[in-house]
Amino acid sequence: MRLYNLKDDSQVVSFVEAVKTGLGRNQGVFFPQQLTPLDNMDALLEMDFVSRSTQVLTHLIGDELSPNVVAEMVQGAFTFPAPLVHVADNLHCLELFHGPTLAFKDFGGRFMAQCLAQFSNSEKVTILTATSGDTGAAVAHAFYGKENIDVVILYPEGKISEAQQKLFTTLGNNIHCYSVKGSFDDCQAMVKQGFLDDELKTRLRLNSANSINISRLLAQVCYYFEAVAQLPKAQRNKAHISVPSGNFGNVCAAMIAALIGLPIQKLSATTNQNDTVPRFIASKKWQPHETQESLSNAMDVSRPNNWPRVQTMLDSGRFSYDDFFSHAVDEEQTALAMRELQSMGYQAEPHTAIAYEGLKADLAPEHQGIFLATAHPAKFQASVEKILNVELAMPKALSDALAKPCLAEPMSADYQQLRQALLAKLG
Ligand SMILES: *Cc1c(COP(=O)(O)O)cnc(C)c1O
Repeated sequence: MRLYNLKDDSQVVSFVEAVKTGLGRNQGVFFPQQLTPLDNMDALLEMDFVSRSTQVLTHLIGDELSPNVVAEMVQGAFTFPAPLVHVADNLHCLELFHGPTLAFKDFGGRFMAQCLAQFSNSEKVTILTATSGDTGAAVAHAFYGKENIDVVILYPEGKISEAQQKLFTTLGNNIHCYSVKGSFDDCQAMVKQGFLDDELKTRLRLNSANSINISRLLAQVCYYFEAVAQLPKAQRNKAHISVPSGNFGNVCAAMIAALIGLPIQKLSATTNQNDTVPRFIASKKWQPHETQESLSNAMDVSRPNNWPRVQTMLDSGRFSYDDFFSHAVDEEQTALAMRELQSMGYQAEPHTAIAYEGLKADLAPEHQGIFLATAHPAKFQASVEKILNVELAMPKALSDALAKPCLAEPMSADYQQLRQALLAKLG
């Protein structure tokens, strides 16, 4: 697989290089030079999740890795299912929260960990990442206790749920956490600056685990195939998929799935009130506002890193703007959507409810609507219990984490402070 830098197309790298470097020159993200359709779609959709995912990833990565190596990595990463739950007539929910940290980030985080373990030749590396809530836990769990790998996680203090936070700040060992007085965008900016800092980059052998890392995106492509495969055969070419979007990595993966032949008819990327993309689609003007806090905190992003990739696919016409919808859903609509789903017998947390709400606006009766459940309701216990007036049972992974003390260190939104802390601890 060859990938080019979207800000400088003279930089072309292999899949392994793209995974190891994360971000290209001038902070550009990498994108595949070619995405060719799979030619055995019907047969693929009959396969089990792990076998099919191996084929999809082998197709994407190409001959850089042997199919046996890819198979091993997929088996190591995809150890839990992604069931499609029927909600109403032509409405389904793809549940992506059955992994160890109860959010879809487990798919990408675990596959990326497999890749880095495979590619690092036992050199010591430092994974530096910012989290808007769920990446931190997925990445921390995927790398916890792994020799030669240190993980550094920045998160916006007080802006993620207690369950989200405790799932990674309580681990210790090779997992180092900083609670930053600022927004997720501030954390993301500090991480980006770290990658521009040659001394830090070299001394720590920095690597990124954000959704800019191509290995995470490619892993996520696989569960869109799994969603379509679970539709009745006659309905498989009628999918309209709705993705709750923050950094726009997940919907980018859906679009890549469509470009390699998965019959996705329509795509909705729905945001909360941090609506840079819906406003861009309407006005063609890129005008990020200050990030606002919301019930769906993992989507509190106003400068989505993956948007250049999505826009590349749209601008080239490989996925039509006519088949792409992006709406913003506010706090009140989010709560109403949660209650509406509850009345249909489905309990959803805020991110999932936003995907449902965004889908409703555009779902045609002849299509099969699939909205993504990106996190387990218990991960947002306080808001779910309050809005739905229910008491949630805690999965054991969560109650165990909640009982432990938080080991994160406080930090201001200041790159120099991060730099000094990291050089002192790991340099
Ligand atoms: C990360 C996250 C999202 C947003 O996904 P992006 O790939 O950043 O668009 C949505 N829901 C939950 C629960 C998340 O953790």
